[in-house]
Amino acid sequence: MRRYDGEAVVNDVSLSIQPGHVTCLLGPSGCGKSTTLRMIAGVEMQDSGTIHVDGHLICDTVFRVPPERRKIGLMFQDFALFPHLSVGENVAFGLKGAGAEKRRRALDLLDRVGLAHFIDEYPHQLSGGEQQRVALARALAPKPRIMLMDEPFSGLDNRLRDGIRDETLDVLKEEGASVLLVTHEPEEAMRMADEIALMRAGKIVQRGAPYNIYNAPADKAAVAFFSDIN
Ligand code: ATP
Ligand code: MG
Repeated sequence: MRRYDGEAVVNDVSLSIQPGHVTCLLGPSGCGKSTTLRMIAGVEMQDSGTIHVDGHLICDTVFRVPPERRKIGLMFQDFALFPHLSVGENVAFGLKGAGAEKRRRALDLLDRVGLAHFIDEYPHQLSGGEQQRVALARALAPKPRIMLMDEPFSGLDNRLRDGIRDETLDVLKEEGASVLLVTHEPEEAMRMADEIALMRAGKIVQRGAPYNIYNAPADKAAVAFFSDIN
C-alpha cells in the first residue's frame, strides 16, 4: 500500500508475474499504475506490503534491496537517453567490465533492435522510434529478469507504434525477461499481454487472459473501459 498525504493511492494490489510472460497493468489515468511500478523498481517505498522476486523477499517495510540490485530493468516514456553519450555508450552505461566487452554487448543488443549501424552516432541524430529502441537495448543490457515498462510507446506516432510493439515483444522474449507493462489503453494490453491485471482506484479489480477479460469484464465500469476498442 502507498499513501500520499494520508490517502491510499495504491491499496490491495496483489500481483504475481509469471516467468517469461507479459503481464499488463491496465487502468485509467490516476489509478496508481506508475506508483505500483515505482514501488516494484524500488525507487519509491511502500507504506505496507511485501515484494518478492524468484521467491526471495526484496522489500518489506523495514528491509529493502536497493533498486540497482533487484535485477529489474526499467523503461519509462520519459526515460531519455544521455545526449552527450553515443548510442553505444548509452546502451553500455550501466554495465561493468572492460570497454571492449561492454561494446560487444551493446553491439549485440543494438543489432537485435536493428540499429547496430548507429552505435557511434548520438541520440539527437536518431528519430523518436529509433531512440525508443536504443532505450530498450539499454534497459536490457544488464540482463534484467524482470522488465518494468511504463507506457513506453505513448510518445510514438501510430504508424511506428505497432511495429515497435511487436519488435519489443520479440526481443524481450529472446532475452527471457518477464515483463510488467503499464498502459491505460485497452487495445495495447489486448495486443501485448499474456495476462491482464485490470486496475481501478488503487486496486486490482480483475485478472486473466486478455480474451477472457474482454469477453467477461468484471463489472459495468470494466465494460465501459473496454468499450473504446473497436
Ligand atoms: P497515468 O495513467 O495518468 O499515468 P497512473 O495510474 O500511473 O496514471 P499514478 O501516477 O500512480 O497513476 O498516481 C496515482 C495517484 O497518486 C494519482 O491520484 C496521483 O495524483 C497521485 N500521486 C502520484 N504521485 C504522487 C506524489 N508524488 N505525491 C502526491 N500524489 C501523488
Ligand atoms: Mg502513470
